[in-house]
Amino acid sequence: IERTFSIVKPDAVGRNQIGAIYHRLESAGLTIVAAKMLRLTEQQAQGFYAEHEGKPFYAPLIEFMTSGPVMVQVLEGDNAITRYRELMGKTNPEEAACGTLRADYAESTRLNAVHGSDSPESAAREIAYFFSDDEIC
Ligand code: ATP
Ligand code: MG
Repeated sequence: IERTFSIVKPDAVGRNQIGAIYHRLESAGLTIVAAKMLRLTEQQAQGFYAEHEGKPFYAPLIEFMTSGPVMVQVLEGDNAITRYRELMGKTNPEEAACGTLRADYAESTRLNAVHGSDSPESAAREIAYFFSDDEIC
């Protein structure tokens, strides 16, 4: 059993797609073991995406991620990290396979509806960034 970290980004929250996306996560056998809604501060968003600092898309990414509320959640299941990345699809929705979350809910490479950890190391870091142990069921 493995845990991964997920965000429903401001574009999807703004389109009232939280429930639809949660339904897809649960239908795929990923169990939501912690969740909350928050509005990221600039500082929180910058720290979360520190690995991308200096890239051309960094500033607009921070602006987007702080533009409205997000849902952050911890997902649990066998191979949760890989399985959730597959469920999300490629970063650019035009390249995302049919039936993936980004094919169905993303509008562009930036406004791409969801985030998911890309490795066990980032999952551990990202879960701890938003949740304390006693917030995870
Ligand atoms: P995430 O980390 O959000 O799960 P990812 O791992 O598929 O997505 P990263 O390369 O980590 O993609 O980029 C983080 C986020 O930055 C992307 O999800 C997207 O919102 C934005 N982003 C990445 N590349 C670009 C780009 N070329 N143009 C615009 N935005 C981008
Ligand atoms: Mg990433």
